[in-house]
Amino acid sequence: LRLSNGHTSVVASKQTEYLLDRNLHKSFPVVTGGSGNYLYLLDGRTVFDATGGAAVSCIGHGNKRVIKAVSTVMNTGISYLASTFWACEVVEELCKNLIHGTDGKMARIYLTGSGSEAMEAAIKLARQVFYECNPSTPRINFIAREGSYHGNTIGALGMSGFPLRRAPYEPFLMNNVHHVSSCNPYRQRADGESDSSFVARKAAELEAKFQELGPETVIAFVAEPVVGAALGCVPAVPGYLKAMKDVCHKHGALFILDEVMSGMGRCGTLHAWQHEDVAPDLQTVGKGLGGGYQPVAAVLISSRVVNTLLNGSGQFVHGQTYQGMPVQAAAALEVQRIVQEEDLVDNVKRQGLYLEQCLRARLADHPNVGDIRGRGLFWGLEFVKDKTTKEPFDPKLAVAQRVYNTSVSTPFNMTMYPGTGSADGLKGDHVILAPAYNVTKEDIEYIAQVASDVVHQ
Ligand code: PLP
Repeated sequence: LRLSNGHTSVVASKQTEYLLDRNLHKSFPVVTGGSGNYLYLLDGRTVFDATGGAAVSCIGHGNKRVIKAVSTVMNTGISYLASTFWACEVVEELCKNLIHGTDGKMARIYLTGSGSEAMEAAIKLARQVFYECNPSTPRINFIAREGSYHGNTIGALGMSGFPLRRAPYEPFLMNNVHHVSSCNPYRQRADGESDSSFVARKAAELEAKFQELGPETVIAFVAEPVVGAALGCVPAVPGYLKAMKDVCHKHGALFILDEVMSGMGRCGTLHAWQHEDVAPDLQTVGKGLGGGYQPVAAVLISSRVVNTLLNGSGQFVHGQTYQGMPVQAAAALEVQRIVQEEDLVDNVKRQGLYLEQCLRARLADHPNVGDIRGRGLFWGLEFVKDKTTKEPFDPKLAVAQRVYNTSVSTPFNMTMYPGTGSADGLKGDHVILAPAYNVTKEDIEYIAQVASDVVHQ
């Protein structure tokens, strides 16, 4: 690459080759269009999108209502509004709609442009709560979990218990995040251990971590109610969320749920916490909020947090250029209206039960399928080398990636989300199935059949 000062740059030219590689379509299939469950490729193939990226496309592709809603806002001439200075009806409507869906448990909404940004905002809000309470000695520690993913920005990644993604950036800028174990019964439940004993063990571990750090120093415990990318659709064991929330509240700490992947209907209730009615103090949502039509995410904030801030400085000193934009809100509002009007969360519950049944019928006996787990339309298959010992495959074999490649390139043509991790964060293979909320019984049968055929190959 020739630079303007006359020199050439080797690094830049390598990067350029890499970009050219992608441009020459060597690395990825090229998508030229989409409609409903289907993606159309340049090579003429049609692919059934059974993951919607990473559980994003909750109403499928090319929805005309959403396209119209977005165009309508653009046609008003409002291209951009700084949400810190201006209000806009569509943004207000979206926030009202979101609060309405929380059964009165959440009081305010803070819109962002991505799940990572929502996590950053939640982390700062939580810190500010304890600063407002006691500016001279505010609480400083967070407790998060191993086998978790909370985003790619440095704060959200620092919160994540995902060694593979963290490794290049250790030590983290935030050294106030401490981890306890995940809630992963396939790998952690002792023989014959009941749900309640398992949960009691997890609660005791969290309690011990509070004691180790000093309970008065802990700001919050942060968890995904159904773990997505890091473990592959692992739902919390019944009673777990309540037990963890109780430990937090006993010590005056906040209970924060990251529902960026598992929320907004994906798991068969609008919010994953509604499955057992364990509302958090702060919650993040993302992917299913805008269904991929616009980059949009949010923090849902409880009255406890709002009131503390109102009794203190009365403001949250945060803000980004691209947040609460009318065009983002229009997309998210229309996606949510479609989900509500078409009763899609109910469909997620029904079709999810059927997907579970179909996957178990076809794959439970496979010698390398260690675990089939999930909830709603959020299912993970974990692959193991040995089903008895649960020994994972050598990471060099890239098993999940190969399953993904096969799923896209066989005549069946379907997407699965390939994940690394599951066993200890460095090892283990899983794929995720997360189709759109409006799938039919026939779609479910197709997904399960292709998944089975691919895994059996
Ligand atoms: N939190 C969870 C649970 C996620 O799954 C993700 C993304 O996969 C994020 C946060 C980060 O969201 P984003 O990629 O939109 O920044």
